[in-house]
Amino acid sequence: MKKCIYCLESKPEESFAKAEHVIPQSFGLFQDNFTLNQPHNKAVCDDCNQYFGDNLEIDLGRDTIEGISRYEYGIRKPKDFKSLGNRSRIQHKKIAEGVLKGTFYYLAYSQELNQITPKPLPQVGFQNKASSSYTYFLLDDIPDKTELENQGFDCAANVRAFGNSFEAIEQALAAKGIFPGFQEEIPLPDQKSEKMLVEFEVSVDSIILRAIAKIAFNYLAYWQGAEFVLQDVFHPIRFYIRNGERRETPFVQIRDKSILIDEPSQEFRRIIHVVTVNWAQNGLSIISQVSLLNYLSYTVQLAMNFPGQILNLRKGHLFNLGDHKIYELTAQNKM
Ligand SMILES: [Zn+2]
Repeated sequence: MKKCIYCLESKPEESFAKAEHVIPQSFGLFQDNFTLNQPHNKAVCDDCNQYFGDNLEIDLGRDTIEGISRYEYGIRKPKDFKSLGNRSRIQHKKIAEGVLKGTFYYLAYSQELNQITPKPLPQVGFQNKASSSYTYFLLDDIPDKTELENQGFDCAANVRAFGNSFEAIEQALAAKGIFPGFQEEIPLPDQKSEKMLVEFEVSVDSIILRAIAKIAFNYLAYWQGAEFVLQDVFHPIRFYIRNGERRETPFVQIRDKSILIDEPSQEFRRIIHVVTVNWAQNGLSIISQVSLLNYLSYTVQLAMNFPGQILNLRKGHLFNLGDHKIYELTAQNKM
């Protein structure tokens, strides 16, 4: 019998058959990959492995900036992209400049370009009478006619509309008492030759943060072994990852910065994942840093006030998506 590091249930060895990857397989495969459930380190039961795949990793792959970046860097084929549309955590991608400034976009696969491109969501734009500039609203968010007029918008003429169903747009407007004249067709930028500048608004919720925390906890379990991470001091992070149990202090914090200090810049970042584990500055807590595709950095608190010393706790690895090899980080370029 072995005890699972997530659900704490004791189960026969056959229930630990699936390989549990430290870096989810959907983010690339690596030579001599770090996985749990090898004969000497049975750690995650197949039920927990299945639960994580179905509930945490699916969203980590589909609905995060890191997940979308997989298509850009060839980890995934653009044609396999499935848009979550309005349900996506990545929303309201406004073109930052040009004639379409302020419009709302979602990401979709373009067969013609064989890449993921922004496409307009159904929306309407009203012109401000004083400034001539446009403000856009998704169909569900259109204010009442009086409210729009009070804000100085022209509801009678020059209204812009985007979407596949003109009828749906007219209905949404009619519901707010607006029966406008529309502006003539605007030429859209040629997506083949022009790069569109898009702003993202991403919400990162506990499903995503738990998926990140699991990478950190798996990494610790990989190096220190299942017995070690079964200690009571790891109960809070374990139950957060497995059951979503929260506490007052967040387990995961996000930074818009690379973990590695020698990273040239956000614009020319290396296509790597990074995972580290170390003592926190107070020398008592155990923390891990995780970065997928070297984009955002997540700091995960794995244990608060760990009782005692651990030899060789400090570790860090770089998962290179270029040659699919894993490199150990040295002290100088760590953190
Ligand atoms: Zn389990």
